[in-house]
Amino acid sequence: MSDCIFCRIVSGEIPAREAGRSDEALAFHDLNPQAPVHVLVIPRDHFDGANDVGAADSGRIWPALLNLATTVARELGLADAGYRLVVNSGMDGGQSVGHLHLHLLGGRRLTWPPG
Ligand code: 5GP
Ligand code: ZN
Repeated sequence: MSDCIFCRIVSGEIPAREAGRSDEALAFHDLNPQAPVHVLVIPRDHFDGANDVGAADSGRIWPALLNLATTVARELGLADAGYRLVVNSGMDGGQSVGHLHLHLLGGRRLTWPPG
């Protein structure tokens, strides 16, 4: 999708500070970090959001996102102290970019419940 900002990051059209990659997914640092480590993990293929990953793709997409997120967390030294993985979905979930993404947040003590 040429009008999707994250698709343009996947294609290299828009630069991003990469944190990791796999066949199915890409990880890069968030432009507006909410924690010392704030990485976004996205599928290379476009899905509008969590609700749009159908049965045909879910077995491929969700493990790819989680595997890359936990790998990046380990590589960035977060594994022992801990971290949070978040998928904002839709209006109430606070999703602002319409390309499925998982947030990896860490490097400080995160509060709960979220706002
Ligand atoms: P959402 O609110 O949809 O869950 O998260 C979208 C995230 O994408 C936000 O944290 C925002 O800072 C980040 N973001 C939006 N545009 C860009 C961009 O062009 N580059 C990067 N690296 N992050 C972006
Ligand atoms: Zn996209």
